[in-house]
Amino acid sequence: MVWFQIERSVKKEVVQTACLREKKSLTSMSFNYNTCLVCCLFIYITCSHRPACYNYTCSKPKRHYHAILLFAKKLLCSVIGFYFLLPPFLFSLCPCLVKEISALSMVSKAISSCIAGNISTLAWRNRMLLQEFHKCGQHNKEDSILEHYRALGLLFKRCTFLLPTKERLKFIYSKLSQVPCFTMGRCSAMPGCLGFASYGVFLQTLIAGWDELECHRVFNFLCDFTSLPRKIHTVVTSKSGVSPRLEIQIRLFCRNVLLDHWQSSRDTLFWLTRILKPWPMVNQARLIYIIYGPLTLDGRIGWQKLTEGAAEESNVKDMADAIRLLHGDQETKEWTADSVISLIDELSAVPSEWLLENSARLLILCGNRICYTSMASKAVNGRVNELARMVVFLALVCEKDSYCMDWAVKMMQKICKVFSNAEEKWNFLQTVENVFCQVTMELYESVMAGDRNEDTDTFQSLCNVLNANAHFHTEILYTFIKKE
Ligand SMILES: [Zn+2]
Repeated sequence: MVWFQIERSVKKEVVQTACLREKKSLTSMSFNYNTCLVCCLFIYITCSHRPACYNYTCSKPKRHYHAILLFAKKLLCSVIGFYFLLPPFLFSLCPCLVKEISALSMVSKAISSCIAGNISTLAWRNRMLLQEFHKCGQHNKEDSILEHYRALGLLFKRCTFLLPTKERLKFIYSKLSQVPCFTMGRCSAMPGCLGFASYGVFLQTLIAGWDELECHRVFNFLCDFTSLPRKIHTVVTSKSGVSPRLEIQIRLFCRNVLLDHWQSSRDTLFWLTRILKPWPMVNQARLIYIIYGPLTLDGRIGWQKLTEGAAEESNVKDMADAIRLLHGDQETKEWTADSVISLIDELSAVPSEWLLENSARLLILCGNRICYTSMASKAVNGRVNELARMVVFLALVCEKDSYCMDWAVKMMQKICKVFSNAEEKWNFLQTVENVFCQVTMELYESVMAGDRNEDTDTFQSLCNVLNANAHFHTEILYTFIKKE
């Protein structure tokens, strides 16, 4: 065996290097057959972690590192004939070794197919596909489960490296589909289950660095095997809230598996586009609401939250973030300004017309650029009344959510410039003032006529509108003083 043809000093060095990571004293081991195999695995493991080797006290660390890596690789190749005799505990010894075994699978085709064969066994699956998704509770435990699935993602990525994408996905799916919590509709503990999140980090690790064409294939593959399009079709075409369980399953699958784990917003945009694009605009809006909209206290989609009363910022924040992503800093061919503005219009009518205050809150959270584009398009299309009401409610949201009123005034000034002549501008300003007056009067009449239970809320709303009016006009007057 190669091991026995090597100088004792080199043997000692490689074993010491291996010990750096394992913190065990292997030097005292006798070099029998099994030790040799274990060592060569550990050598490769350690050598695949450069920093550990570089830190090793050695006068020429870099040269040594490469020499050791080469040696380990040769050694592994030479014992490949004995590979099948590798003790099974190496593969199921401890989940924390998954990363190291994945590094081993890159040594040669034979080793990677051996590892692929090993992970197809029931014993491996029972031990390594951790399924304690419902008992987590503690952050540390959740983190370690996610970390384990990240490592498994790397293992599957590496040991299927030589297969064509489709075969690769089939192989991986055949293993993962046996975990009930990875499949829509098979877990009874949603949304408190960590299954989709684990699946998500697994998938993210697996396809990290793949080009767009391959990611398209992954999406199509997932659609075929999860029937995601059929399920989406059911919820976007039926009345909202009719299938609450399916709605939540789609939301959790899209968010936890496909969207939430990406570091780069470009990746999230890619996946969100894949989910939305096959559908007409009206269904896209409904889908955004399902994926990012507010939830009720019992974990269902909060379909009435934006139509029945003024909602908190957190209820529209995620939808605003999704829209910012579609029409953000990155130019994308798939989402033009017009399509995003139409999408916002559709969204603010899901499931029926939102309270204007909630639409204004969404627009503010979408940021300057989208807010201006949306309002300017109303100005260009002559929707002056609608536009003036939006200006008033932007001011109201600024007042209630403590944003700077200066922003609402500047937005109105910018919109004024969209009108081509003085007459149109004057008409617009008059309409804004009339709406202020009208909204105040409506609330005043409600206070006067309202029943006692609703009095406090309506009275508070009246106060907010009066304050918003005062602060809005103070800012306008202040702009004149600044000009002098
Ligand atoms: Zn579950």
